[in-house]
Amino acid sequence: METFEADVVIVGGGPAGCTCALYTSRADLKTIVLDKNPAVGALAITHQIANYPGVSNEMSGQALLDLMRNQAIEYGTDYRRAQVFGIDVNGEWKTVHTPEGTFKGRSLVLATGAMGRPASFKGEADFLGRGVSYCATCDGAFYRGREVAVVGVNKEAIEEAQVLTKFASKVHWITSNDPKPEDMHAQALKQEASVKHWSRARLLEIEGNDSGVTGVKLKSRELDQEQSLNVDGVFVYMSGSKPITDFMGDQVAFKEDGGVLVDDFMATTSEGVWAIGDIRNTPFKQAVVAASDGCIAAMAIDRFLNSRKSIRVDWVHS
Ligand SMILES: Cc1cc2nc3c(=O)[nH]c(=O)nc-3n(C[C@H](O)[C@H](O)[C@H](O)COP(=O)(O)OP(=O)(O)OC[C@H]3O[C@@H](n4cnc5c(N)ncnc54)[C@H](O)[C@@H]3O)c2cc1C
Repeated sequence: METFEADVVIVGGGPAGCTCALYTSRADLKTIVLDKNPAVGALAITHQIANYPGVSNEMSGQALLDLMRNQAIEYGTDYRRAQVFGIDVNGEWKTVHTPEGTFKGRSLVLATGAMGRPASFKGEADFLGRGVSYCATCDGAFYRGREVAVVGVNKEAIEEAQVLTKFASKVHWITSNDPKPEDMHAQALKQEASVKHWSRARLLEIEGNDSGVTGVKLKSRELDQEQSLNVDGVFVYMSGSKPITDFMGDQVAFKEDGGVLVDDFMATTSEGVWAIGDIRNTPFKQAVVAASDGCIAAMAIDRFLNSRKSIRVDWVHS
């Protein structure tokens, strides 16, 4: 098996990984990005990216990601398709295992995102990015004046449903249990004029056609019969987003919520290893936040590898 060496090995080619690669390449650090698939990360499946500063609101997440990746490549990043299945962070050189070869980095960046959530419902995977979403803050505005369904009773579901009441004409809130009476946020949501609560109900299927989601089928325990609702969007919050960390064992420390633990410079508990973007399980999962993490880590890595006393920036105040 061939072995490749670099100053910086980045696992994951989403906005976090690509931004980090852009900065480290520009700092003349030999940088390799290993990316499982440029079409399956959170940004890649984002239908329209309306809130990334400076880009047209017509742009798809995939198009924005292509721009980011190409920019990093232009500055020298060695981008490769490869699925990482193991790492070894002991010692000065960090080792990354893939079926395409072994990669050794003087520093290692973990940027595999948080798309580790399995689909819970029939139709969910088929219509992901075409009406199925996990982010009301990101996609809510696309459903102005339209009907949507929110599935789930956890805190995230309640907060996201509340966001959707600002846009949607009707929010069908589907929960398998009754929310707790002492849950003030749930009770407030139920009081919203645009919310129809389907309690003790089971989502059976998300339906749609070539244009995307057209409706959902559900069965409520009370009526004990199937019902169809016409909706244009379905926001699913069953299991929370799950950082993709299966390939790293216990070689870095994790937070209670499963995100990788980092300090202010995105450094993990293992020297020479950084973690950026959604893999940290931050409360605000946004492309601009992931990109910002990438920039911070890159500058910290530059300082780490060059033992600089201060972080070098591209600009200087005059
Ligand atoms: C449906 C949806 C809509 C969204 N809409 C918006 C929006 O409008 N605006 C906004 O700012 N944010 C939006 N977000 C959030 C935003 O997309 C994420 O916060 C951002 O993409 C996180 O970047 P990342 O680089 O950490 O992870 P990702 O973008 O998920 O990229 C991770 C990369 O790692 C790769 N990878 C995974 N496992 C491995 C492995 N084992 N080996 C090698 N590579 C691997 C993947 O192939 C992928 O390319 C949305 C998210 C979703 C799911």
